[in-house]
Amino acid sequence: MAIQPPDAIDADGTAPAAVTDRRGRELRDLRISVTDRCNFRCRYCMPREVFGPEFRFLPRGEILTFEEIARLAGIFAAHGVRKLRLTGGEPTLRADLPALVRMLAQIPGVEVALTTNGSLLQHLARPLADAGLTRITVSLDSLDDAVFRRMNDADFPVAEVVAGIEAAEAAGFRPVKINAVVRRGVNDHTALDLARHFKGSGHIVRFIEFMDVGVSNGWRLDDVVPGAEIIARIHAEAPLVPAEPNYTGEVVRRWRYADGSGEIGAITSVTQPFCGGCTRARLSADGQLYTCLFAASGTDLRAPLRAGAADGEIAAIIAGRWARRDDRYSELRSQATAGLPRVEMSYIGG
Ligand code: SF4
Repeated sequence: MAIQPPDAIDADGTAPAAVTDRRGRELRDLRISVTDRCNFRCRYCMPREVFGPEFRFLPRGEILTFEEIARLAGIFAAHGVRKLRLTGGEPTLRADLPALVRMLAQIPGVEVALTTNGSLLQHLARPLADAGLTRITVSLDSLDDAVFRRMNDADFPVAEVVAGIEAAEAAGFRPVKINAVVRRGVNDHTALDLARHFKGSGHIVRFIEFMDVGVSNGWRLDDVVPGAEIIARIHAEAPLVPAEPNYTGEVVRRWRYADGSGEIGAITSVTQPFCGGCTRARLSADGQLYTCLFAASGTDLRAPLRAGAADGEIAAIIAGRWARRDDRYSELRSQATAGLPRVEMSYIGG
């Protein structure tokens, strides 16, 4: 089915300028959660004691169809969004995901990316590439099998994820970005191994500071390993030089190996917040628009969508919400924010 440009595009065919929020930040990136389910139970995201057999995941009827997702993505694109990132839960659990990628890849002016735990990548890398996916990020918190299994709390072997990364490379994804959440006393002792393994591979490891996402992961500041500390450990072994951001609003702090064998990064939401350049919106699997990873509530887009609203009406809701946006949670994080309600990351994607 060809994606029709939404009726928000002006008569002369030009797309309206991107909307900006109260801090002058443009809406450029949309993270689309296609499911709130996952086959892992990573303790920093979906601890089993909360997301257990009794947990009420979104019933099928409440989840946006591919056509609804594609229509909304088209409207966001008409208002400046240039990157669509598919997330979850675990997005590859959504049946026939390549079909959605194919629909999104038809939207003019956008690129489609995916963040996955890599568990199904061996089978899906090629079909996703053929469907038009352009970038893959794989979450891989450690190469130590015992540590990895403990962190995903699903007894899932690390070798399967590594094989998934190899399948992604074979399907043409290069570089594959590898995200590792670092938690003191849990996996920080294996961070250097991860860096060594991918050094010279062309793939890029990014170490992510453990964040107080949601209200379920038992976050403590003491468990945070600052990005600068991880980078210093790597630098001590393989000298690094700072590298410029690829674009405004890029969340990762980049370093290159001085010997030219690639790059590495740190995502430092806790110790060096990057809210000033945050151009990201998030869409939950049931059609709620969130303007911050740490937001307490969203704006319902599914209801107007299913009530027959025109593209322009939905665009007005999106633009209006973004224009009122003032989020900068990571800059404000303190004892005072600890008790605030926050949406779960598994519901809106990282
Ligand atoms: S805390 Fe919110 S505003 Fe700040 S970078 Fe993260 S998502 Fe953006």
